[in-house]
Amino acid sequence: IRVLGIETSCDETAASVVALDDASAPPRILSNVILSQVEEHAAFGGVVPEIAARAHVEALDGIIEAALADSGVTLAEVDAVAATAGPGLVGGLIVGLMTAKAIAAAANKPLIAVNHLEGHALTARLTDGLAFPYLLLLVSGGHTQIVRVAGVGDYRRWATTIDDALGEAFDKVAKMLALPYPGGPNVEKAAANGNPSRFAFPRPMKGSAQPDFSFSGLKTAVRQAATAIAPLSDQDVADICASFQAAVADALADRVARALHRFRADYPGKAEPALVVAGGVAANRAIRETLERLCAEKGFRFVAPPHSLCTDNAAMIAWAGIERLNAGKADIDAFDFAPRSRWPLDEVSAPLIGSGR
Ligand code: ATP
Ligand code: MG
Ligand code: FE
Repeated sequence: IRVLGIETSCDETAASVVALDDASAPPRILSNVILSQVEEHAAFGGVVPEIAARAHVEALDGIIEAALADSGVTLAEVDAVAATAGPGLVGGLIVGLMTAKAIAAAANKPLIAVNHLEGHALTARLTDGLAFPYLLLLVSGGHTQIVRVAGVGDYRRWATTIDDALGEAFDKVAKMLALPYPGGPNVEKAAANGNPSRFAFPRPMKGSAQPDFSFSGLKTAVRQAATAIAPLSDQDVADICASFQAAVADALADRVARALHRFRADYPGKAEPALVVAGGVAANRAIRETLERLCAEKGFRFVAPPHSLCTDNAAMIAWAGIERLNAGKADIDAFDFAPRSRWPLDEVSAPLIGSGR
């Protein structure tokens, strides 16, 4: 099976061809083209939906052509077209999904509408051949979730954020400290020279019986600390970043530990349970090391797909299309499927079985 994937839900314009030759061989990413719009949004300190949509329109055709050319596969040799249909910024979703519909209709191929979060959820099967069930921690600019992944179309969100997404918190802290956008990598860089115990920032939700995340209180504490000692020296900024990162890692570990226990209880016989991390924040070394340690402690395998496949990309969308085709859960008549800016992963569970063409 060969599937062309298209991703335009946020600030990456991406296309990819993924192939699965037969069930016993590992899948192959034949091409994976990504154009990041980071520079176009940098001046605004965040993603501007209108700019994003326009940039997708301008770039997408060329990105798809490049993905096909790189793969050595022609459109005629592709078995289906899979596109992100949500959740995300509706302008970008319209561009990607409509383009996919046009291509699929013109080439007489099935069209598969993919949930972006399902792409993240299934990536570890593409990269590591992971077997169901497993736990996913998704930490990005728009999402902070723990999801139990038990099969294609069988997802349960165990935890989500009640306020800011974690990547968003990194970006806002960076902005307060006048560090450049995107904030995450710059906070991490500054933290490398800082003292993580200079500021005793709160660990939101730590020990709470409720499974969710929260980051806005921590963000406020950082703002208050920064205001209290302004003007900030480079060392102050470094210490704030290091202390913020330590608080985040600690709070995350508490929430994840809770989910690991629940997974153990739900699957007592599971030989090698695994935690998968995805999303841009998963690139953070301090967070990664904390989670790795936690997993080792709790007897979980820690799976971190390569960074380029953890952040938004189209290979994960093509792969989700392949998984859906294999599971018989592809809505292969998705031509009337409208983009959904809000589309929780749990709601994907209903099998999308199309009438076929
Ligand atoms: P979505 O949430 O829809 O997946 P997104 O574009 O916001 O979309 P990603 O591209 O996966 O998500 O991740 C971007 C986020 O990751 C940004 O908020 C960025 O600050 C954060 N990030 C990237 N690198 C790091 C890092 N080293 N440490 C902490 N945060 C980071
Ligand atoms: Mg992004
Ligand atoms: Fe994403």
